[in-house]
Amino acid sequence: SLAVINEDFYFYNLLGLNPRMQTHATLCSSTVKKQDKKHWKRNADKSSSNCEMLENNFDDIKHTTLSERGALREAMRCLKCADAPCQKSCPTNLDIKSFITSIANKNYYGAAKMILSDNPLGLTCGMVCPTSDLCVGGCNLFATEEGPINIGGLQQFATEVFKAMNIPQIRSPSLPPQAEIPEAYHAKIALFGAGPASISCASFLARLGYSDITIFEKQEYIGGLSTSEIPQFRLPYDVVNFEAELMKDLGVKIVCSKGLGIEGMTINTLKEDGYKAVFIGIGLPEPNKDGIFQGLRMDQGFYTSKDFLPLVAMASKPGMCACHSPLPLIQGTVIVLGAGDTAFDCATSALRCGARRVFVAFRKGFTNIRAVPEEMELAKEEKCEFLPFLSPRKVVVKGGRIIAMEFVRTEQAEAGHWIEDEDQIVRLKTDVVISAFGSVLGDPKGNA
Ligand SMILES: Cc1cc2nc3c(=O)[nH]c(=O)nc-3n(C[C@H](O)[C@H](O)[C@H](O)COP(=O)(O)OP(=O)(O)OC[C@H]3O[C@@H](n4cnc5c(N)ncnc54)[C@H](O)[C@@H]3O)c2cc1C
Ligand code: SF4
Repeated sequence: SLAVINEDFYFYNLLGLNPRMQTHATLCSSTVKKQDKKHWKRNADKSSSNCEMLENNFDDIKHTTLSERGALREAMRCLKCADAPCQKSCPTNLDIKSFITSIANKNYYGAAKMILSDNPLGLTCGMVCPTSDLCVGGCNLFATEEGPINIGGLQQFATEVFKAMNIPQIRSPSLPPQAEIPEAYHAKIALFGAGPASISCASFLARLGYSDITIFEKQEYIGGLSTSEIPQFRLPYDVVNFEAELMKDLGVKIVCSKGLGIEGMTINTLKEDGYKAVFIGIGLPEPNKDGIFQGLRMDQGFYTSKDFLPLVAMASKPGMCACHSPLPLIQGTVIVLGAGDTAFDCATSALRCGARRVFVAFRKGFTNIRAVPEEMELAKEEKCEFLPFLSPRKVVVKGGRIIAMEFVRTEQAEAGHWIEDEDQIVRLKTDVVISAFGSVLGDPKGNA
């Protein structure tokens, strides 16, 4: 009938619109498909046997960095939990749900003020705090499909907006004027080391009203490990500088190239100079070095993380120092020893210095890795290889250069302790070895 014909016609037209009806299968050869796939692929090629070409690329690689749109969406997801386990897991006790609420209301200044009031290193921590182990690890949304709130990313977003506002820190209006404040607040205070510990301590002292605070730093640059060892692609130097400038707004002075044990400066000489209090924030300046590396030098291809990372930082962090030094020349294969955060920073930095392949070798298994998962993931994404259950035994040097490293296999005994099997020797060819076994205090005087 006419009605049926019209109906057929109607559906035919409807289907014809979207999607367009195909009367035959579309054939495409595998070769063309492979080429097309390669052309359109946005993520890194899985089958590549070499590391990605990252030489000289120090751009931000953190997955937590958020745009404004991303930050607003993330802030809206927060449940503002009454128990707020995120805050309970934060070492600086930030009022996380309140600053997230401020972000959701587009009050970025208010959010940053809240963060920086509790933590003068709020931007640094937003960028590099191991949040998966802290606030994010406690977030009530952990078990949902969308996962926990990206708290570090939100903290970074709010404080970066504030940084761009160029607003100085001011002395609290609730404090009495300088002339009326009790004499004790004018006492001379010295802090050793311009790392995170001293910057935080000095900021809080200055906020309390202390007016004569000086930080003595043995290096020519400030920021401690945040500057000299955490790489630019995770923590740029201008972030450290921003927080130091906020502290200086309150009158804190920084004297570089001077410190404990340098040019005869001791606690006693400070006392003689009228200092009433001293804070020692000199960190752990010495590398923890295994005896098998005794006598090995950088020109032979051996670095400790404390040799290597500052060289990379000096060459890649604009504004850190005026040395304009080149990146360390790293070619061929690199073996990084250790499985802490420092080892993964060395591995990803080695790629940026020109390494072709990077192996991270460690004594225990993957379940014992000390680094936070986000650090290890970054190294994995950049195609660093992991070599578990290996304990270093010997560095093989030929013609004045490192050519290989020997390891023995390790295994965990039934009782839980680790044993090293001297009969199972593994020899790996390498051009460079970087040991990242952490730091020790050493002798602050000798080191100075
Ligand atoms: C490679 C690496 C990656 C890291 N990544 C992270 C991370 O992602 N997240 C995180 O939260 N933490 C990280 N950390 C840890 C973090 O950097 C440290 O916990 C932090 O820097 C410690 O601060 P601090 O002020 O105690 O010491 P430091 O940062 O070591 O600062 C000490 C300062 O004292 C100075 N000094 C030393 N001796 C003297 C002296 N005699 N007189 C005067 N000054 C002196 C030093 O030059 C230095 O500037 C990392 C550490 C390393 C090594
Ligand atoms: S636990 Fe998670 S969801 Fe709850 S207030 Fe904290 S960040 Fe928001």
